[in-house]
Amino acid sequence: MKRLTAHLLFALLLFFPVLASHAQEPKALPLPDERYKVDILLVVAHPDDEGAATPYLARALDEHKRIAVVFGTRGSSGANEAGAEQAAALGAIREIEARSALTTLGITNVWFLGGKDTASQNVLQSLANWDHGASLEQLVRFFRLTRPEVILTFLPGTFIGEDHGDHQASGLLATEAFDLAGDPASFPEQLAGPTKRLEPFLEDLRPWQPKKIYYFPDADREDIFLGKGPDYSVKEISTSGKQPYWRMALDSFRSHQTQAKSFLDKIAQMDEAQIEKMATSDGGWTDALHFVLGKSLVGGSVTGDVFDGITPGAIPFARPDVSPEPARPDLSVELGGPWSFYGEFRRAHGLTDLPHPQPPEIAVQAPGTLVIPLWVRNRTAKTQEITLSTVLPAGWTAQSGTGKLTVAAKQVAAARMEVSLPALAENSTKKPGPQELSVHAESNGQSVAEIKLRVEPRKRALPQ
Ligand SMILES: [Zn+2]
Repeated sequence: MKRLTAHLLFALLLFFPVLASHAQEPKALPLPDERYKVDILLVVAHPDDEGAATPYLARALDEHKRIAVVFGTRGSSGANEAGAEQAAALGAIREIEARSALTTLGITNVWFLGGKDTASQNVLQSLANWDHGASLEQLVRFFRLTRPEVILTFLPGTFIGEDHGDHQASGLLATEAFDLAGDPASFPEQLAGPTKRLEPFLEDLRPWQPKKIYYFPDADREDIFLGKGPDYSVKEISTSGKQPYWRMALDSFRSHQTQAKSFLDKIAQMDEAQIEKMATSDGGWTDALHFVLGKSLVGGSVTGDVFDGITPGAIPFARPDVSPEPARPDLSVELGGPWSFYGEFRRAHGLTDLPHPQPPEIAVQAPGTLVIPLWVRNRTAKTQEITLSTVLPAGWTAQSGTGKLTVAAKQVAAARMEVSLPALAENSTKKPGPQELSVHAESNGQSVAEIKLRVEPRKRALPQ
């Protein structure tokens, strides 16, 4: 009987080899590396920008969230209070300072895109200096590697405030990556895996759609952001750190010697009571953190917790809702530069509810020159003559760009106006505040456009 069974089995194996393979253990296919999976990916521009979110990150770590950080630049054109090093050498130091600051909190997965630190308010200039396409490709790679649930980043927009073009660029790239990382048609070479020899550049990543993106503004004003996202107190006591979140953020900031050595030396001499007095009286260390909800693909309340509505597991890729182009007359004049770009950007990324100032605004160093870029669009079948003029605050003068110009049939052309701002009154303690100016365009006796702009003259401001 036994022998017969053995014979039968042998015959079965001979005729049904497939049964033999079933008898083996199934082979588990390789999966993404869990050590790199995060709940939060913070995307900022410069080493020390993480400080805009560290009190919240410390709180999220108490809630066992996994966090990684991407910096757009190494901050190589910043100042150096700690030594003589400048430019790329300073960038090398600041990379270590950023890693050290985040390690203080317990965050070790930190990457740099390699953008060039660009001191201006113009996001388009930052994007050009960051090699936009290459930086975006790299950021999409980090999204697919870290598979974040939530993105935290700077709000892309132009405001009176610090308004650093690099800060804006980090938020802009993060928004673009949010809309691309889940798309299998975007950067598909990252998703393909090597199947034979000599394919060493295929990466075998998977598409990943983050669920939410939140912004923190770089603006002075707060009114237009109220109720647009959650607020977090930084005064609560950390369960792991046993001290307030602002205090943990300050400890983390101690790594940034190149940026604040004199301040850090000062607090190194203080006792805890003096540090707390300093932090609550000035410097904004104890102010609540405000986030602005950019997008949620999983619902949740606008002002609710960052993780409201988020459940484990991947969600399908969601193409952004593109809003239609606004209707324009056949002959039109509009603000150009970053102002018009951001209108297009909000339309393209389903962000038409994102707060932005109306009228548009900017802070400019005075004495100095304000440049007003304009788009002149002529969809008519003949060349059109347009007359540009301005109404300016007292003491401001139009240097160039006013008067008559022509634009050929069916063409879009760039024009610019330059306005001189006088020096601010010496010894004046009162800030002049934003002033309103307007640009008028007319053609054949008809008004074509009236563009308003709020401009705040300041003793110091980043170049426009
Ligand atoms: Zn910065």
